[in-house]
Amino acid sequence: MKKAIILLVILNIILVGILIYVDNTKENGSSADPVSKEENDFTKYDGYIESKLDRYKDYYKKNSNNDITMEETIKLVNNDVDKLEGLEYKNYLVKLIDSKYYISDNLLRYVDYYDNKSKNIDEVITNVNSNIDYEFYTHTQKADLKKGNLILVNKFYYLDKNYEPEDLVPIDSAYTMGGGYLTEDTWKAFKEMADVAYKEGIDLYSVSPYRSYNTQDGLYERYAARDGYEEADTYSARPGYSEHQTGLAVDINSTDDSFAYTEEAKWLKKNAYKYGFILRYPEGKEYITGYQFEPWHFRYVGKDVAKKIYDEDLTFEEYYAYYVN
Ligand SMILES: [Zn+2]
Repeated sequence: MKKAIILLVILNIILVGILIYVDNTKENGSSADPVSKEENDFTKYDGYIESKLDRYKDYYKKNSNNDITMEETIKLVNNDVDKLEGLEYKNYLVKLIDSKYYISDNLLRYVDYYDNKSKNIDEVITNVNSNIDYEFYTHTQKADLKKGNLILVNKFYYLDKNYEPEDLVPIDSAYTMGGGYLTEDTWKAFKEMADVAYKEGIDLYSVSPYRSYNTQDGLYERYAARDGYEEADTYSARPGYSEHQTGLAVDINSTDDSFAYTEEAKWLKKNAYKYGFILRYPEGKEYITGYQFEPWHFRYVGKDVAKKIYDEDLTFEEYYAYYVN
């Protein structure tokens, strides 16, 4: 009797062992059945790509205790999230990827920013695309001159000391106080805009167009001597970092804050895009542009781009990251 019980126990142990073994081989996909239940499931979802099935399975299994869905798995693997080392699954990853201005190269930075700042997904995308997750004047790189009228110069992108636009032309004296130069495209567009405005009773003229590196250097140092460097940084660019050095930017009529309340400023805000200009440092976007609201500073980008920036209410930083870079 005793022997029989021991035999039964042994048989039981063997049986349980076999059951566990069979179960494991199923999970590993090496079961004899060529079409497993899981495979069938993945095919049902949008975006399924047959060649990625093994990756779906791996990622899904790896994150099975994170409540990941098969739909999410497909989306994330299709966007190569499973290949990013050091990136753990997060339940907001799909939301990031589905955002209008999502840039795949920025994914790790989005996640880092989201996890450390209490910002919503849209803010995370906007801020990281505009490098706001970095301190101004850090991670700096040379401006890409090949971008032509869409060169970005800001607190992350700079121009060399000796950079001077090739096609500077003098501004006709009827359109300026103090003279100066703009690139040819910028000048033509400015003249076209000023001529139309004039017919509508709006008098527009340049008060500060192209500035050389040395001119900006002198200006910045003067402001810094007066207000200190920290304060000067909020309203004046460091040499090499001024958009005025591109010849594509122009300060119009007055650089006094009160200009915002004039008919000229209101007209510009509403109409400048039609001539290829954007209000470069808008109110409420200071944290992106790095500059206080400047109702007088306009940047030439061409008509199509200006319209898109105007319609989508973007800063040039956001536009550049998503559409140009
Ligand atoms: Zn300016």
